[in-house]
Amino acid sequence: MAYSARTRAIFENQINTLKDGGILKIERYIHSVQDAEIEVEFPPGAPLKKVINICANNYLGLSSHPAVVKAAHEGLDARGYGMSSVRFICGTQDIHKELEEKVSKFLGTEDTILFPSCMDANAGVFEAILTEEDVMISDRLVHASLIDGIRLCKAMTDSFKHSDMKHLEEKLILHADKRIKLVITDGVYSMDGDTAKLDEMVALCEKYDAMILVDESHASGFIGKTGRGTHEKYGVMGKIDLITTTFGKGLGGASGGCVSGRKELVEMCRQKARPYLFSNTIAPPVVAGVISVLDTLSKTTERRDKLEKNANWWRQGLLDAGFILQPGDTPIVPVMLFDAKLSQDFAIDLFNEGVYAIGFFFPVVPQGKARIRTQISAAHEMHHLEKALAAFIKVGKKYDILGKSKKEIMEMYGA
Ligand SMILES: *Cc1c(COP(=O)(O)O)cnc(C)c1O
Repeated sequence: MAYSARTRAIFENQINTLKDGGILKIERYIHSVQDAEIEVEFPPGAPLKKVINICANNYLGLSSHPAVVKAAHEGLDARGYGMSSVRFICGTQDIHKELEEKVSKFLGTEDTILFPSCMDANAGVFEAILTEEDVMISDRLVHASLIDGIRLCKAMTDSFKHSDMKHLEEKLILHADKRIKLVITDGVYSMDGDTAKLDEMVALCEKYDAMILVDESHASGFIGKTGRGTHEKYGVMGKIDLITTTFGKGLGGASGGCVSGRKELVEMCRQKARPYLFSNTIAPPVVAGVISVLDTLSKTTERRDKLEKNANWWRQGLLDAGFILQPGDTPIVPVMLFDAKLSQDFAIDLFNEGVYAIGFFFPVVPQGKARIRTQISAAHEMHHLEKALAAFIKVGKKYDILGKSKKEIMEMYGA
């Protein structure tokens, strides 16, 4: 027997260890479109519950927006369902080129190459442009997909303490002899909602002749005055050598990603990036959807403006109620509960109050920094936010944490 009882037992044991440790991930089924309010089946088999969703990356509320759905339908009719080929054989349509040009224009870059996802963009980009003579210097909190891409590349690796510019400078000095130094960071960090200091990072890169790559997955479409991203917020558009980003968050929420930046680097990706060469690209209906999203966002800042207003209201409301927040000014608003079990109990109580949010704890966030991560959307109307805030306050009162310090909360709940 190929899959013997002995083999099966190995994997059953691993799964049971996760279960016993209380860290087996359980899916929650959504029976509606992704929106400000969704219908959720949780736990599996339970009756459907309508809840306000504050844990999606649906920042601009476009995942089920009628204009985007319509554009995708039209793309489906005009260019079909799929490509049945990788791009460099016969899997590139005119709309893929059109999308690449629109992304470059939107981000203010020289050229863009599409990937099936941002995970794939990050998996392919480093290996395509760097060699053993180079060094990659990454922030210690970068996204898992960047870590994987770094692993696939033969260049030397090093890192700097999160957002610590002095430490980054030391590393740039340390690696002065390398052919190419590539600094790697997220634009917006998804767990804390803080932003990379791109103005200072670009200045350091200029001083020490280094390149910089920024993953803008939690920024594209809404950070910066016209939503171009973290580089716009910090006034360094045109100075970022490589941007990777996803179309699966603010920019429509379906799927797909890209590498955008210096044209020679994008060309190197076209020649060598393996997820581009060996995996089908984005399906035509999704390409058409993203094109319509970029067209709309280039014309009006209405949605990112509404998102900013919503996020500011939400942040202030929670602060006024006496919650401890991770400081920041993005739509990612982490409500700090510090204790892992409290974060889980709190999330269940919120769900029962009709608010869907997730409690995160170690190892996803550092030990003793458990939290409920809330994510605000332009799809939220005032009544959603008011109801969600009332639920937070009700549950916060139940656990008696409003107005309490970290020390006091830890004394009550810390293990
Ligand atoms: C979500 C995310 C990705 C992955 O994007 P996909 O297109 O879904 O693969 C990559 N990097 C960062 C920083 C992300 O937040």
